[in-house]
Amino acid sequence: MRTRRTAAISVGVALAAVMGAALAAPAAAVDPEPVQEQRLGVEYFPEPGGEGRRTEVPVNTDHATGRSAARSAAPTAGTTDGEVGELSVTGPSADRLDVVIVGDGYTAGEQDAFHTAAAAKWADITGIEPYASYQGLMNVWTVDAVSAESGITGDPTADVTRNTALGSYFWCSETERLICADIDKVASYAAKAPEADLVIVISHSTKYGGAGYSGLEAEGYPFDGVSTLSSDNAQSSMIAAHEIAHSVGLLADEYTYDSYGTWSGGEVPDINSSVFTAEQMAANRSKWYRWLGETDPTGGTVGTYEGSSYYPFGIYRPTANSLMRALDVRDFNLPGREAMIAGFYREANALSSGTATGSAILRTTRLKVSRAALTGLAAPELRWYVDGARVKRAQGLTAAVPAALGVPADGRTHTVTVESADRSASIRDPQVRAEATERLTWTVKASGHKGHPHR
Ligand SMILES: [Zn+2]
Repeated sequence: MRTRRTAAISVGVALAAVMGAALAAPAAAVDPEPVQEQRLGVEYFPEPGGEGRRTEVPVNTDHATGRSAARSAAPTAGTTDGEVGELSVTGPSADRLDVVIVGDGYTAGEQDAFHTAAAAKWADITGIEPYASYQGLMNVWTVDAVSAESGITGDPTADVTRNTALGSYFWCSETERLICADIDKVASYAAKAPEADLVIVISHSTKYGGAGYSGLEAEGYPFDGVSTLSSDNAQSSMIAAHEIAHSVGLLADEYTYDSYGTWSGGEVPDINSSVFTAEQMAANRSKWYRWLGETDPTGGTVGTYEGSSYYPFGIYRPTANSLMRALDVRDFNLPGREAMIAGFYREANALSSGTATGSAILRTTRLKVSRAALTGLAAPELRWYVDGARVKRAQGLTAAVPAALGVPADGRTHTVTVESADRSASIRDPQVRAEATERLTWTVKASGHKGHPHR
């Protein structure tokens, strides 16, 4: 991913942490030792198609499952344990959002089933916009994790335990559909991939379940989010589609808790929550005012619907329903979609070149650029400039020579710039448009009789 990070990320994490802490359930497992256990906020979905819930769970699972840490690991010699596969690699990791999928509850002989499940889950997620149009900005890696036993703990009932590579289990925090995993073990497998910005753990089960850990970068992990989901349940894919949106799009939850009552604070940082009504929002030109009144892919019209960011009153969301509210709808609303696209461009570059922009080039140097394959909602356009002046006839070219673009041999240095701009109708905010516009600029060395090219 890009190294550039926005302040909004830490704000979002801080808010999520506060929300998580406020909702923390009493510790489910009675720990016999006075160990200071590290806990993380997670979100889960108690019912297929339903709204989410948040709670806190342990980072490591041995305590929580009450099992001996001395249990034997799966024999990994001669197996594919730790092997990295390329599910969808579209470009250099430095220019891509890298997703790593790890399987749990798959024995040495079941790794093919893991790969099949990983491909099926990724296909489900990228069947949803804007993942569909922008999957060219993502790399997807698989890492084989060989488990001693097939299936995971808590399936089909709470008393069933299994010895698995990532220690994942249903009934986390006494909640049937909440699949927790040992995040340190997950991290050690994810680290085998070239890069891990987001991690998905696929647990070998037909039972509905999953979870989303977020804010992990603040805890010192190299990735921000981990989604868990069951492998062979058709509805579990939606959990990951929702969770990735927290990490990538910085979107807030649009569902509410009755007990939270009325939001009494000021305006919130969340992109898709606001204390303003549609009238106020239009007047002060904030949040999703550019989308008000538009027909939304979730059905209905973009407006301000009361109840968002867990509070049922005094705060509004953009649409009646959306993927950030409940998993019975397969779309983000228009403001959410735009936020996701902004997130993809924050984490990835659509434009790459093998010729470093820092190095001076010659008039005769052939510049080649590669563009991420963007489809559907995306509308990328490639333009070339010499000294800031557009070269119209070069539009769309993925290779060009400065001399042919019109760089003169006049003994002066010149610049060549290539620009990829996404003219997508799903982008209305000029700031997002700027985020979706990328440029590479090279300095062309002075050449010709008037200069001193060999100094
Ligand atoms: Zn959520």
